[in-house]
Amino acid sequence: MSTKPVVRFAPSPTGYLHLGGARTALFNYLFARGHGGKFLLRIEDTDRERSSAEATAAILDGLRWLGLDWDGQVVYQSQGVERHRLAASRLMEQGDAYRCFCPPEVLARKRELAISEKRDPLYDGACRKLSNAESDKLAASGKKFAVRFRTGEGRTTFDDLVHGRIGADNSTLDDFIIQRSDGTPTYMLAVVADDIEMGITHIIRGDDHISNTPKQILLYRALGRPVPRFGHVPLILGTDKKRLSKRHGATSLTEYREQGFLAPALFNFLALLGWSPGDDREIMSADELTAAFELSGINTRNAIFDPRKLEWMNGQYISRTDNETLLSLVRGQFESEGLLAAARDENHLLAALELAKERCRVTGELVSRSRFFFPVEIEYDPQAVKKIWKGEAPRYLASVKEVLAGVDHWSEAALENAIRALAENLQIGAGKLIQPIRLSVTGTNVSPGIFETLAVTGKELALQRIENALATLG
Ligand code: GLU
Repeated sequence: MSTKPVVRFAPSPTGYLHLGGARTALFNYLFARGHGGKFLLRIEDTDRERSSAEATAAILDGLRWLGLDWDGQVVYQSQGVERHRLAASRLMEQGDAYRCFCPPEVLARKRELAISEKRDPLYDGACRKLSNAESDKLAASGKKFAVRFRTGEGRTTFDDLVHGRIGADNSTLDDFIIQRSDGTPTYMLAVVADDIEMGITHIIRGDDHISNTPKQILLYRALGRPVPRFGHVPLILGTDKKRLSKRHGATSLTEYREQGFLAPALFNFLALLGWSPGDDREIMSADELTAAFELSGINTRNAIFDPRKLEWMNGQYISRTDNETLLSLVRGQFESEGLLAAARDENHLLAALELAKERCRVTGELVSRSRFFFPVEIEYDPQAVKKIWKGEAPRYLASVKEVLAGVDHWSEAALENAIRALAENLQIGAGKLIQPIRLSVTGTNVSPGIFETLAVTGKELALQRIENALATLG
């Protein structure tokens, strides 16, 4: 790219940051960072009624959590109203826009009629023909007016960076309103005026804006500015192919954070939601994604959001995260479960996490998978009891207890040697010993390797659990 791109994420602060918005932000971020450009943030808060400070805070917070640090100050669209008004005036002076004095009720009636007659409800141009003198006179008399863009004839096309050539006949675009009768700019004008002001070179946003693009292109041209490149990103659908919504579960970034998803996992997952590096890589760091990201890799078809894949990916990230970081994330939960108090020391906690982190989907599972490493009460899984606690199991476990009581140096290797030697003496497979040990120590039939599990649990607690199993399982 000859010049460095300047892109922006431009959310309307009318709700939380949802997955679709976060992905749009991420694509902009990756594109900017990958090309040495700038990633700007603009809060489109001109709709005072629907915008809120909480929503703005939630969006900023979500972006920060995900690691999408933007360049420069946040731009608030509401602070540019004066500039928007100047742009509207300029367009009027040039004859590219005109005052429309049609009362809203008249417009509504015409609209309804058009719909009932199955015509497109476009503006009929009643005020388009007013002379400047007539228009000035009406305005001076205090009559209210909106400002409409004079769309004109022809066809407006652009080469979308994702979809290729897209176009619309100007006759379908309407003489759209750029300034309301209360003097506020419409989205169409504000977005163009701001993108010009911010020097935006590439507009990467959702497919739902495709139909706005020809109108915006006409505004750029009328304002005498180069038209930026556009890339429209397809929607995110649920596995039922319906547009992603609350029905599919959590849709806000904050909910995912609260449910125990890690920011780098979501970063990675969202990047692959509708974009592909062109090979079969799946686990990719922010740096790798930045290096690989190209707009041409965005899929033209809608992306399918598979929550199970996100859980799998989150699990991959949990297992690769260092134990100290994991502990800082779950310390509160460990505390309320009594595990902090029960642990011998910090190393005991870290060693438990090292084993527990292997098969978790969300960080909350680190707690349930760590419990048995600490002297707290555990329950026996009835299914596991049924599977394991039969035949010779109690007798084997009794022998195990004696052998383990004699192990002085309580290490993984010493434990393994002792148990394997016992299995040989009894002339049975080691599994016949290991499963009853697992049941008694963890309460389940699945756990990390039994020797490392025993080593982390500690001698005293392990022997206690075995005794307890012998006494209570009968
Ligand atoms: N504020 C608009 C939205 O949230 C985005 C505008 C744009 O990207 O052009 O949908």
